[in-house]
Formats: sequence, C-alpha cells, structure tokens
Amino acid sequence: MREMLWFDSAKVLIGGEWVAPASGDTLPVEDPSTGSEIGAIARGTSADMDAAVAAAEAALAGDWGRMTAAERGRVLSRIGRMVLERADDLARIEATDVGKPLKQARADALALARYMEFYGGAADKVMGETIPYLDGYTVYTLREPHGVTGHIVPWNYPMQIIGRSVGAALAMGNACVLKPAEEASLSALAFAAIATEAGLPPGALNVVPGLGEEAGAALSGHPGVRHLSFTGSVAVGSLVQVAAARNIVPVTLELGGKSPQVVFADADLDAALPFLVNAGIQNAGQTCSAASRILVERSRYDQVVDHMAARYQALKAGPAMADLDVGPLISARQKAVVESYLALAGDLRVAARGEVIADAPAGGHYVAPALLADVGASHRLAQEEIFGPAQVVIPFDDEDEAVAIANGTDYGLVAGIWTENGARQMRMVKRIRAGQVFINNYGAGGGVELPFGGVGKSGHGREKGFEALYGFSVLKTVAARHG
Ligand code: NAD
Repeated sequence: MREMLWFDSAKVLIGGEWVAPASGDTLPVEDPSTGSEIGAIARGTSADMDAAVAAAEAALAGDWGRMTAAERGRVLSRIGRMVLERADDLARIEATDVGKPLKQARADALALARYMEFYGGAADKVMGETIPYLDGYTVYTLREPHGVTGHIVPWNYPMQIIGRSVGAALAMGNACVLKPAEEASLSALAFAAIATEAGLPPGALNVVPGLGEEAGAALSGHPGVRHLSFTGSVAVGSLVQVAAARNIVPVTLELGGKSPQVVFADADLDAALPFLVNAGIQNAGQTCSAASRILVERSRYDQVVDHMAARYQALKAGPAMADLDVGPLISARQKAVVESYLALAGDLRVAARGEVIADAPAGGHYVAPALLADVGASHRLAQEEIFGPAQVVIPFDDEDEAVAIANGTDYGLVAGIWTENGARQMRMVKRIRAGQVFINNYGAGGGVELPFGGVGKSGHGREKGFEALYGFSVLKTVAARHG
C-alpha cells in the first residue's frame, strides 16, 4: 500500500503541515477485498480538532480569507486539473481502501475532479440582490462564508462526498475541517495532498481522520465550527444535529434512503432494465441513493422479475482489482448486517443470486447479489436500508398504490419513474416525496450540477449544484439610508 501513496497516511493535515496526531495512536487500514491489514491512519482526537479549527480560523484571517472569489475559483480549478491527472492513482487507492471495482473508483475520481472544476467556475458567480425599499435607501444582500465548516464523511463514496461538500464550502470562502470515515480515509488524505500541491493556502483544508465517537464527535460539538455538513447514517446524523443545536449552528444532513424505481406497464423495459439493476448493485449496493425497491405494475411484474433475474444470475462479485460487477462490502461487520437482512428473506421468493467468483480471497467480505421478489411493501426488507447488493421487487395495481408504496417508508431521497405517459410522469413527480426524481432514467445521486438531498429521514439541506453554494454561505442584508 505504502508505495501507492504520496503522503504519510498516519499523519493529520493541520495548517498545511503533516503532523502526528496528539494521541500518537493509529488505526488499521484494511483491504476489504482480502481482509488483510495494509497500513495505518492517524487516530485523531479532540486535541487535533482544536488545532485544526484554530488553523482554519487562522487561514480565514490570513491568505485564504483575503483571496478574491476569482482567485479561490482558480485554485479549485487547478486542484480539479491535478485530480484529473492523478485519477488512476486515486482510483487505485480508493479501490484498495473501499473495495470498489476499479472502474467505479475511477468514476469517483473523475467526479471529484468535476466537482472542483464546477465549483472553481462557480466561485465568482454567486451574487447578492438589490431590493427596492423606502425612498432614500439602497438595500442589497451579500453572500458571505460561514467561517470554519466541519465535514463528516462516510466510507462509501469518500471522493464524491468530499468533492460536493468541501468543494462548495471552499468556493464560498469557508475554511474546512474534514473528518473522513475510519474505514476509508486514504483518498481524503490523497486529495488534501493534491490540493496543497495545487496551491490551496495552509489551513483552508484540514484533515483529521479518527473514530466517529472521538474525532467525529469532537468536530460536531466544536464551538469554533460555524456549519456542519454530515453524510452518513440516520443514527449518527441525529447525534450530529443535537451537537449542532447546542452550538446553534446550521447543519446539512445527507442520510440514508430506500429509494424506489416505479415501473408502469407502458414503460420501455429495454431502456429501464440496465438502470433498474445498476442502481441497486453499484458499489455493492452501499449507496445512499441505491434503488433498493423496484415497484412494478402487476401486468408486467413477472416479466420484469424474469429479466432482472437473468441479469442477476450473470453478476459476479470479486476483488476490487478484478473490476467485476460487484466488489466486497466494506467490512466484516457490514457483511454480517447484510447477511442478517438476507436471512429475513425466509419464505420470500429469492428470484436470483449472482455469484462470488471461486478464487475470491477467503478473507474478503463478499456477498452474492440477491434479487428478492414478492416482498410485501411493509416487510423490513422493503422498509429498511440493507446497504448491500440486494433489491426487492414489489407489485402494484394502479397509480395511487404506486404512490402509497413509493412514499411508504421513513426516507425520501431519490425516485425513478418509468412510463411513456407524459401526464402520468408529471403527476408522479408532484406526488412522490423525494429530493430528486428521475423520469425514464435513474442517476443514483445525479450529476455534479444537480442539487441533491432528502426529505424525512433522508435528511435536510441540499448539496451539489449551485444550491450548495447558498447552503455554505450566510446572507447579509445591507440597508443604506442616504436621503
Ligand atoms: P456512519 O453514520 O456510521 O458514519 C459516517 C461518519 O460519521 C463517519 O466519518 C463516522 O466516523 C462519523 N461518526 C460516527 N459516529 C459519530 C459521532 N458520534 N459523532 C460524529 N461523527 C460520527 O455512516 P456509515 O456507516 O459510514 O455510512 C453509511 C450511511 O451513510 C448509510 O446510511 C448511507 O445511506 C448514508 N449515506 C448517505 C449519503 C447521502 O448523500 N444521503 C451518502 C453516502 C452515505
């Protein structure tokens, strides 16, 4: 592993310096494809968070805070170019650390570059308004950075989530403290090293890996942090929101999902099928916006199940570097969770299983993809996030029932609608509770440009696109009386 890296993974980055964590401790890095320990990351604690927040404050008072929006944009664009040049290296690191098939890891690296390009270009295009007011007044608004922003990131898509959250925060002139997930911190450190090389001023981005309950809790409760962006589980999101409430700081929560794709009888099935399956098994199903529920109008139900089953039977799971359809799950713990869900299938129809290739390393965390049919809409498998390579297929009889099932979970992140009927498309868009709706496609979180976020237990606030820039800024209203 060490030979792949251009930074010391056992250090934290604070104020532009790579230093040992205050604890002097490290945490192991595991390769999920083999289960072997391949390196170490720093075990950051509250002392490191104090130093990181102080460094971010110093950056805001110094070179970083003095940069114009155009200069910030230029730095971000340069980071984007360098990420693009290093995309293969970043992909190899991520594939090894997270277990993603190499081409999926590469897609994440390209998305990270694209976030930097997008937010680099957007940095100097966020403008205020002038507001007509009383005679003798000029009123206008300014969009200013919050100050120090905290970013807590999960292990499933580190590069994409860092791109959308840190990219937008930096574009608006905030200084960031990033706490990557303990299971997957290497790409965050690699990115920070690239950003430093690209000329990001010291302290604008600080990275402190560590355990959630130590480093994560220290960051979310830190009184110097003015905005928190959290992506992860509902349980931890709730803790972060409580911590944010104590300090009265805004928080963006990007949590889980149980997203449906709704297939009506008139849908173009040939077009739909690849989207139906890919959106379930991408990243071994460890995707917040995975389409883990497929709802199908009864008259085409058996046909859709048969077609999906045929695809599932051809799916192969194996090591990340073998670049198959599905890699290992992130950890033995995650594998046990997914297997306990699959055990609930009991009498349900297991329509098809993919296979784990014969020579997959015995210590890797592999689960053969599973397609589960005839699952009742209220069954736990149809309600809870499995976060593994498994999808349930549920029949419905009419539009009202489709809406009731689609909206019938605690979540509301993404939905897909497959129908050729334009009026039905528009009705469904209005009736479905979700932060993003795709018509006759499914974007698994969508593009860099598309605002993203949830309703209900999927969270609140929006990241990605231009909308994120508003979230990472504070609006100031200025009323000047001049007579
Ligand atoms: P998690 O909530 O366990 O961990 C996420 C991050 O929070 C990690 O960095 C972790 O160290 C940190 N953390 C843990 N305990 C903490 C605490 N007490 N205080 C502060 N931080 C703490 O989630 P996970 O298992 O890493 O990720 C899976 C979950 O993330 C799934 O539910 C998935 O749906 C969700 N997710 C959502 C999105 C989205 O954009 N909506 C994207 C990816 C993942």
